[in-house]
Amino acid sequence: MARNLAVDLYSDTQTRPSPAMRAAMAGAEVGDEQRDEDPTVLELCHMVADLLGKEAALFLPSGTMCNEIAYRTHTSPGDEIILHAWSHAMHFETGAPAALSGVMLRTVDGARGMFGAEQIRGAIRRVGNHQQRSRLLSVENTTNLGGGAVWDLDDLAAVTAAARAAGLATHMDGARLMNAVVASGQSASAFARDFDSVWIDMSKGLGAPVGAVLAGSTEFIAEARRHKHQFGGAMRQAGIIAAGGVYALRHNVERLAEDHDNARRLAEGISKVPGVHVDLSAVETNMVYFDVDVEAERLSGALLGHGVRIGPMGPNRLRAVTHLDVDANGIATAVNAVGEAMRSLRSGD
Ligand SMILES: *Cc1c(COP(=O)(O)O)cnc(C)c1O
Repeated sequence: MARNLAVDLYSDTQTRPSPAMRAAMAGAEVGDEQRDEDPTVLELCHMVADLLGKEAALFLPSGTMCNEIAYRTHTSPGDEIILHAWSHAMHFETGAPAALSGVMLRTVDGARGMFGAEQIRGAIRRVGNHQQRSRLLSVENTTNLGGGAVWDLDDLAAVTAAARAAGLATHMDGARLMNAVVASGQSASAFARDFDSVWIDMSKGLGAPVGAVLAGSTEFIAEARRHKHQFGGAMRQAGIIAAGGVYALRHNVERLAEDHDNARRLAEGISKVPGVHVDLSAVETNMVYFDVDVEAERLSGALLGHGVRIGPMGPNRLRAVTHLDVDANGIATAVNAVGEAMRSLRSGD
């Protein structure tokens, strides 16, 4: 279906590797990744460990596996992980924290997928004989269901300090951390500083077809590697896919600014359409969440008729995500399509 679309704003996972990225992948040096002998995988891991200011890194097939292996490595069955109620791991990982690590999840609320240190202190359980052990704080940056919001460094320092003071480990789901970096001008290592583990996704805005990289201390990564094997994530000549990640880090980071500009252009454009409400101040990176006074499913369906895909995220809520396969013309097409589709849905055509 995606092939017939003029503009696919369903997610930044919809990118296709460019000819240059494919060439880099085709020409990649490879070896046995399970034996730590794939030079391209090692190169990617070094790049990401450096970028995030960590000792070591591990190449994994997906971001979901990064979260789940980190959870498995930081916790024991019966432990509790504190995370935002809208977290990816809470909703979109098929209950894996329970299934694979036997842990409980304790959620906290807060605007735009974020929360404060007081909430973390309130959620941490007192040590005793009856309660499960609070073990890990898990933070998303940027927030996904929170609308692509970027955490403030001081707020990150405060919530991680609250966790550490009670002996919790800290984990950052940085699926879109590079969007936070480009939007804020802060370095990735500054965002990652107070986290024991952190990962970035190669297959979101960075535009590679497969893979994510989890980073942490040498000791953490050694243990995570065992769980990678246990979860069936150890690969063989994985340099073919890691090369897409190496290429992405070299060529596709700075350009995330274009995605952010396009998201803003889209938000401003559709904010003028009658029946659409979008909080422009909440558009910080490459996501635009908006509310409509028609059924979101019907609008999404009508947009497909115009060659534009935008996914429904609730009865009256939709999400559009910009990425490297959508340019300013595509945004203009999408804005027009939203205008026309809304007009016809609201007039009952
Ligand atoms: C996409 C996403 C994930 C999962 O990454 P995959 O590579 O799709 O498995 C995890 N967390 C967040 C915040 C995401 O947006």
